[in-house]
Amino acid sequence: HWDARSNAHEEKIFVSVRLRPLNDKEIARNDVSDWECINNTTIIFKNNTTDRSLFPTAYTFGRVFGSECSTKQVYEEGAKEVTLSVVSGINSTIFAYGQTSSGKTYTMSGITEHTIADLFNYIHKCNGREFVLKFSAMEIYNEVVRDLLSPESTPLRLLDDPERGTVVEKLIEETLRDWNHLKGLLSVCGAQRQIGETTLNEMSSRSHQIIRLTVESSTREFLGARKSSTLTAYVNFVDLAGSERSSQTLSAGARLKEGCHINRSLLTLGTVIRKLSKGRNGHIPYRDSKLTRILQNSLGGNARTAIICTMSPARSHVEQSRNTLLFASCAE
Ligand code: ADP
Ligand code: MG
Repeated sequence: HWDARSNAHEEKIFVSVRLRPLNDKEIARNDVSDWECINNTTIIFKNNTTDRSLFPTAYTFGRVFGSECSTKQVYEEGAKEVTLSVVSGINSTIFAYGQTSSGKTYTMSGITEHTIADLFNYIHKCNGREFVLKFSAMEIYNEVVRDLLSPESTPLRLLDDPERGTVVEKLIEETLRDWNHLKGLLSVCGAQRQIGETTLNEMSSRSHQIIRLTVESSTREFLGARKSSTLTAYVNFVDLAGSERSSQTLSAGARLKEGCHINRSLLTLGTVIRKLSKGRNGHIPYRDSKLTRILQNSLGGNARTAIICTMSPARSHVEQSRNTLLFASCAE
């Protein structure tokens, strides 16, 4: 049973790795799987046709999920404790990090739905408090923030609020009514999300998506009772842009600019996460990118963070997979 509060002092970022199965395209070109999860915490590189002395062949994390693991399992063991801490008033963020087509969106959309389903259940059973769930969704593309619930998609400004920290101006917040309402909102977001064409992948995602759920709760008020106490916290579901180096996907012109910005956001995130994982001494450069500004009060401090690094098992992706594991190792 999860208990967010008992772990609130733990600032360590929970890092897990999810290996997806080979996909049809990979199988069709006779690609093979080079990675295997040998237990719950260790993933190994098992290709013995290359010189394995060149880099580590075994990596250990908080949890590794083999290709046979369901998204439900990834949620239960890699995300739930972090995402559900929101009902205790603790901000939290869960990231999907990995190269394009490694399974970020697949994993993050499942985790978002499992979390909200559990929240609906919890709220239904909780007699002592009254809850309101608010849903908002944004995209960062080229360091420009857009509202995924707004058809106009004009750039949103970030403002500094002395009490609430960075606020996304005019971001639409929908009060969640029920499951169907949620599904409707998620499909609006999916349709709005910008997709760019790259040389690496026809439908490569170059934007970061943040779904933010705000959970407000207050003790029920009875006649004559004292003023109710209110708790507000966020949980952020972050589906990051592909982690592949921009030089690999670069074609020309606009793509160059995109690549730079995506790298900047991911680089800043990497720096922030590395610093947080080493203990919060010294300057943390939250303000260096839109992504880290928006997430500032849900990263570090009294917030909980989990990162799920997704990877393809394919031999053809070994370079990217190792980069992903390197990022994962630095975040732990
Ligand atoms: P990304 O968001 O990282 O670019 P996607 O989540 O879109 O990648 O995944 C790419 C494709 O692989 C999708 O068709 C998705 O359904 C499939 N896929 C990803 N992870 C898994 C998995 N663990 N099991 C089965 N299919 C998966
Ligand atoms: Mg995606």
